[in-house]
Amino acid sequence: MSINPKCLNGMSCFISAEGDYYPCCFVYTNKAELEEWATKRNYNMSDISITKHGYENTVNSDFYKDFYNSFEVNTCTRECGEKGYKATEVGKPKWEKWKNTDETKSGV
Ligand code: SF4
Repeated sequence: MSINPKCLNGMSCFISAEGDYYPCCFVYTNKAELEEWATKRNYNMSDISITKHGYENTVNSDFYKDFYNSFEVNTCTRECGEKGYKATEVGKPKWEKWKNTDETKSGV
């Protein structure tokens, strides 16, 4: 299954109220999958704490280098796999699927 990761193509990351870094809001919403992935790879979820490690260290951590080379959670397949929705606006929180018809027609 090929993945076209929106997180590596301009979509915003997500930082939780606890100060944990997630590659996107989808993975945060389904974070049990990331926890399971981390356990299988012998990582600890505290590895994604920017409160503990700082932003740069967390983003460039072995945890996320490994994750960005795998995307082995169902959320990534669903949102960014071959049947994932199309993203056309780089760097914006709203993507084509989420726009309502009026916004799409007016070009907003
Ligand atoms: S669902 Fe996965 S591949 Fe898609 S943006 Fe989020 S982390 Fe990246």
